[in-house]
Amino acid sequence: MNSCPRCSSLLLFILIVVSLGCSQGKTPVASSTPAPFVQPTAQGSPAPAKAIEPSGPALHIDPARAMQYVKEIVAIGPRWDGSKGQQQMGEYIHRKLKNDHVEEDAFVADTPEGKFNMRNIVAKFPGSKDGIIVLGSHIDTNYPLRKTSFVGANDGASSTGLLLAIADQLRGKKLEGYSVWLAFLDGEEAIKSWSDTDSLYGSKHLAQKWQQDGTAKKINAFLLADMIGDKDLDIQRDTNSTAWLEDLVLQAAQRLGYQSYFFAETIPGLQDDHLPFARIGVPVADIIDLNYGYNNSYHHTTEDTLDKLSPKSLQIAGDVILETIRLLNAGAGSSPPPAPSRFPS
Ligand SMILES: [Zn+2]
Repeated sequence: MNSCPRCSSLLLFILIVVSLGCSQGKTPVASSTPAPFVQPTAQGSPAPAKAIEPSGPALHIDPARAMQYVKEIVAIGPRWDGSKGQQQMGEYIHRKLKNDHVEEDAFVADTPEGKFNMRNIVAKFPGSKDGIIVLGSHIDTNYPLRKTSFVGANDGASSTGLLLAIADQLRGKKLEGYSVWLAFLDGEEAIKSWSDTDSLYGSKHLAQKWQQDGTAKKINAFLLADMIGDKDLDIQRDTNSTAWLEDLVLQAAQRLGYQSYFFAETIPGLQDDHLPFARIGVPVADIIDLNYGYNNSYHHTTEDTLDKLSPKSLQIAGDVILETIRLLNAGAGSSPPPAPSRFPS
């Protein structure tokens, strides 16, 4: 998640909903009160009018296994772009997915600190239906904190471990629905300071590639996971996500009895790896808990360590994502809305 200073005092920010904003292109905040529990669906989006019965067998992650992956990733050490850890992280993901169909999207990122070799890794699990659901996580750790002991247990490792645990559930099965692709995204973090140009290097590169090669048109949904390992899990609604898809995530959470972990608060204009995909017209949802420690005080600090996480939180996030896939497979949101006009490409 972005390193913009507003996020360090996020809770306060949510409560008073100031419209200062330190980044351009943010969705303007319309009201001075927190958004209601369920926001009205954005104009032009197909709202799931009634509860949809999911399609296909229910899948659940193994939370202990997911936690083990997170521990192994943290054990690599810092994984900022350009570090030995970044290289080892890529090798680790390849090892875990060695029996799967995996593609690399290597590129050179132009950053304020010069050129960096980066690579996205995409694992593809084919389904029986035309269309793709992409799950994303960033694999890098914060670059400006590289001289500290920052290991990004929650910010980077938790969602990546979760995707590996989801891969375990998809592997070796005949998926009776859309194909599911896991996108391990490099270069989410800013190299110097968060801006439109200095951030989201991997997701921008992959979104551009998928726009050019026609893949983007086949993607029914992009679900991003970020910072979902927090013991005290409270996932916020995000106004930069696609409203109907977030409604569907909530519906999935309700089906599993996890709704109290979702959307009690709203973050206006969140910037994360979902944005580049939103900009090319893909429906997106960022599943993120940006209230990590009191007043988000663990975010981007050396306090972001394993002891703040729980397998239960990984389970909630993972199972809700898998249930959302079943709802999408049942036809929810099958006529994707046009590209939101607030994301000019
Ligand atoms: Zn971060």
